[in-house]
Amino acid sequence: MKRIILLALLAAVVAAFFTFDLNQYLTLDSLKNSQEQLGIWQEEQPFATAAVFFLVYIAATALSLPGAVIMTLAVGAVFGLVWGLMLVSFASAIGATLAFLVARFVLRDSVQERFGDRLKAFNQGVEREGAFYLFTLRLVPVFPFFLINLLMGLTPIKTRTYYWVSQIGMLPGTLIYVNAGTQLGQLDSLSGIVSPEILLSFALLGVFPLIAKKIVALVKKRRVYKGFQKPAKFDRNLIVIGGGAAGLVSAYIAAAVKAKVTLIEANKMGGDCLNYGCIPSKALIKSAKVAEQMRHGDRYGLEGGEPQFSFKKVMQRIHDVIAAIEPHDSVERYTSLGVEVLQGYGKIIDPWTVEIQLNDGSSQRLTARSIVVAAGAKPFVPPIEGLDQVGYLTSDTLWEELAKEDDIPKRMVLLGGGPIGCELAQSFARLGSNVIQVERNERVMVREDPEVSVLAANALRKSGVNLLTGYEAIRCQFGGDNQSEKQLIVKNPDGEEEIIAFDRLICAVGRTARLTGYGLENLGIQTERTVVTNEYLETLFPNIYAAGDVAGPFEFTHTAAHQAWYAAVNALFGEWKSFKVDYSVIPWATFIDPEVARVGLSETEAREKNIPFEVTRYGLDDLDRAIADSSTEGFVKVLTVPGKDKILGVTIVGTHAGDLLVEYVLAMKHGLGLSKILGTIHTYPTLAEANKFAAGEWKKAHAPEKLLLWIEKYHRWKRG
Ligand SMILES: Cc1cc2nc3c(=O)[nH]c(=O)nc-3n(C[C@H](O)[C@H](O)[C@H](O)COP(=O)(O)OP(=O)(O)OC[C@H]3O[C@@H](n4cnc5c(N)ncnc54)[C@H](O)[C@@H]3O)c2cc1C
Repeated sequence: MKRIILLALLAAVVAAFFTFDLNQYLTLDSLKNSQEQLGIWQEEQPFATAAVFFLVYIAATALSLPGAVIMTLAVGAVFGLVWGLMLVSFASAIGATLAFLVARFVLRDSVQERFGDRLKAFNQGVEREGAFYLFTLRLVPVFPFFLINLLMGLTPIKTRTYYWVSQIGMLPGTLIYVNAGTQLGQLDSLSGIVSPEILLSFALLGVFPLIAKKIVALVKKRRVYKGFQKPAKFDRNLIVIGGGAAGLVSAYIAAAVKAKVTLIEANKMGGDCLNYGCIPSKALIKSAKVAEQMRHGDRYGLEGGEPQFSFKKVMQRIHDVIAAIEPHDSVERYTSLGVEVLQGYGKIIDPWTVEIQLNDGSSQRLTARSIVVAAGAKPFVPPIEGLDQVGYLTSDTLWEELAKEDDIPKRMVLLGGGPIGCELAQSFARLGSNVIQVERNERVMVREDPEVSVLAANALRKSGVNLLTGYEAIRCQFGGDNQSEKQLIVKNPDGEEEIIAFDRLICAVGRTARLTGYGLENLGIQTERTVVTNEYLETLFPNIYAAGDVAGPFEFTHTAAHQAWYAAVNALFGEWKSFKVDYSVIPWATFIDPEVARVGLSETEAREKNIPFEVTRYGLDDLDRAIADSSTEGFVKVLTVPGKDKILGVTIVGTHAGDLLVEYVLAMKHGLGLSKILGTIHTYPTLAEANKFAAGEWKKAHAPEKLLLWIEKYHRWKRG
C-alpha cells in the first residue's frame, strides 16, 4: 500500500511538471534570458539562492525530470566553477540516490521475486563488481542517468556504495557542464558544450577503469605470490596431481598440444571411476539385471526360476571388466601419448614446485608453470558409534573384500539412499542378499522430483530391497545370543529404536573431496566442501587449478573430464585467453532399473527458482519397443518455457534412460527446441522414439485450434 501511495504521489508531481509546462524554463534560451535576474538574486541572497538551486536540482534528479543539463549550466553561470561544481556534484549524487531508493522501494522485491534464481548470477556479479560497472557508466554517459538510477535500484548494490561511486563517477562530466555554464554568454547550443576533444576524453575516461581493473587484477595476482621465489626456468609446463578422470584428461590435453606434462598418481591409474566407482558398479548392475531377468524369465515366455550362480564368479567378472578397461587409462597408454607418468604421492611445496614420493621409495622435485589438482574424493564415513568395531565397507573396499567371499552376504545393510546406495542396494538384493537400505530422508534420490523417488523406491522394493526411509542410523553394536551378531540400531520415523542384524554393512552416504595432505593447507589455498576456485577453475594461486570431484560442485566422471578441459587449457594458454567453465547443460544418470536420467531443471527446482514452466509427459507404456521388451515402466518428462518449445529440463525414467537422455542434452546445449526433435526421423522401433513422442505430446498440446477449425471448414468445402 505504501508503495502505491508513493508511486501515486510521484506520478502526480511529474504530471504537474508537464501539465504546467514547467520545462519551458529549462531551455538554453530561457536560461540566457533569466541569467541577469539569477545573478541579482545570487548577489542579494547568496545562501538562499544556493539552497533553492540545491533543492530544486535534487528534486528534479530524484523525480527523473528532464533539465539536469540546463540546471547545471545555470549553476555554473550563477555560482562560478568551484561553488557550482560543489553544488551540482552533491545535489546530483543525492538526487540520483533518491531516485535509486525509490526504484528499490517500489520495484526491487517484486522483480527479484519474479525472476528468482535467474537473477542469482547477476546479483552475485553486481555484489562483486557492481561498483566498478557503475563507475564506468557514470564516467561514460552512454545511458541516460535517470535510467541508471532506476535500474540500479533493482540490484543488490549498497546505497552507500551507489552514492559515492555516483558522485565520483559523475564529477568529470559535471565539471565540463558547470564550466560551460560559466561561459553561458558564448554558448549557442547545448551540443556546443561537448566538442570532439571532450567526447574523446570521455571515451578515454571510460577505458581507464578497464585498464585499472586489469592492473588491480595483476597486482592482486602478484600479491599472493609474495614470499615465494618463482623459478627462472620450469621443468614442465604442467604437473597434474591425480590420475582419475580429471587428471587423465588434463594430462591428455596438455600432451596433445605438445606441452611437457607430468601426471602423478599415488594409487591406481583411472582413479575412482575405473577402480571403485562407475565401472565396477555398472558391471555388478549388469550381472544383477541378468539374474533378475532369469528369475522372471516367464515375463518373456521362458521358464523363470531362481538363478544358479557363483558369487565369486560374479565378483571375478567385475575385476575382469576393470582389467579389460584398464589399458585405456594405463601408464603405458599415457606414456605413448606423450605424458610422463610418475607413480607416487605428489605434494605441492610452493606455487610452482611439486615433490613426489615415488612408490619405489625415492623422491623427486619438479617445477612447472602450472599445476592441476585432480585429487578426487573419498567415501564419507558417518560418525556412528561402534561402526569401526563392527566393521564396514565403502565403495573403496567392497570390490576387493566381497571378491574374497564364496557367497553373497546373507544380510546386508546399505546406508544411504543416494544414487550409489540405490544402485548397490538393488544389485545385491537381485543377487539374493537380504538387503536393508537405510535412508534418513523421507525419500530416496532427493535430488530428483518426488514422483521419481516414488518410482525408484518401488523399483527397489520390487527387487527385494527392504527400504527404510525416514530412518536414522544411531549406533552399531555386537548383540544376539553370544554377543557376536553385528547390529545396527536405527531410529524409526516415530522416534523408536529398532535393531537391524547384518553380516555386511556398506556406507554410501556421500563423498568428501580430498583436501589435505598434499600441500593445499600449507599454501593457504582456500577449501570449503571442495577446493575453492573461480570460474576459470583457478585456486587462490592463478597458476594452480582444480578439476573433478576435488573441485565440485558435481561428482561425475563426465563433469570431471569437462572441467579438465578448462583447467588444462586455461593453465597452458590462460595468459592469452581464459575460458569460464560452462555448467549450463549438465546431465547425469542413476543406473538403477529402471534408470533415472536428468538434464536441466526438475519440476521441484523450477518451482524453487520461480521459473515458469510447462510439463509434457510421455509414458513408456505407450511405446512399441518398450512393450516388445516388457520394459514399459517409466516416462519422459520435459519442462519447457510456457508457450514455447524451448527445453528447460528433462527427466527420463526407463530402460536405458541414460542413453536416451543424450538427445535432449544435445538439444539443450545447442538451443534446439522440441519441434526440431519432432522433425527428426527416429529409427523404428527404438526406445529413442520416446523422445520424439514426448515432443509430439507437446505439439499436440499447442495445436493451433482456431486455424484447425478453418482448415476443417476448407476440407468440408473441398468435399463439396
Ligand atoms: C560407486 C560409485 C559409482 C559411481 N558411478 C558413476 C557413474 O555411473 N557415472 C559417473 O559419471 N560418475 C560415477 N561415479 C563418480 C565418479 O567415479 C567420480 O566423479 C570420478 O571418478 C571423479 O574423477 P576425479 O578425477 O575427480 O577423481 P578420482 O577418480 O577420485 O581420481 C583422483 C585420483 O587422485 C589420486 N590422488 C589423490 N591425491 C593424490 C596425490 N597427492 N598424489 C597423487 N595422486 C593423488 C587418487 O589416488 C585418485 O586416483 C561413481 C562413484 C562411485 C564411488
